[in-house]
Amino acid sequence: MLCMKCKKEIPDDFLYCNFCGKKQIIKPKPKYHKREHGTGTIHRDKRYKRLWVALAPASKYGKGRQYIGCYATRNEARQALDDFARSGKPDLYNATFASLSAAAGVQPENLQKIIGHASFSTTAEVYIHQDVATLIDEMRKINK
Ligand SMILES: [Zn+2]
Repeated sequence: MLCMKCKKEIPDDFLYCNFCGKKQIIKPKPKYHKREHGTGTIHRDKRYKRLWVALAPASKYGKGRQYIGCYATRNEARQALDDFARSGKPDLYNATFASLSAAAGVQPENLQKIIGHASFSTTAEVYIHQDVATLIDEMRKINK
């Protein structure tokens, strides 16, 4: 183990450094793991400090946080947020899935059934986006 202050080698079980006398503090593990970005938030209610509020992730413009509920403990709020995330799959992922599938050569008619759209035009117009690289290649054809 290296001393926190003078960086000299000291035995692992030493609480104090032999050279500089600095107390060796081992940082405790954080109680809660930080959630990834875009997975919602949990915080204490401003007025009722004993309550925990769970909010769904905001849109990409930072607006429209959806209120999920108020809970007595932090873990309950976290559980509710996890349940919410599992319950509905965001359209963004659906669009990515549609675009990747179309690029891989899945027939659009079959893709429509897989995603569950009622009409084919929704799948083709809203969900399947052209890959940027493909579009650039198309524009390069003009230069030839
Ligand atoms: Zn030291």
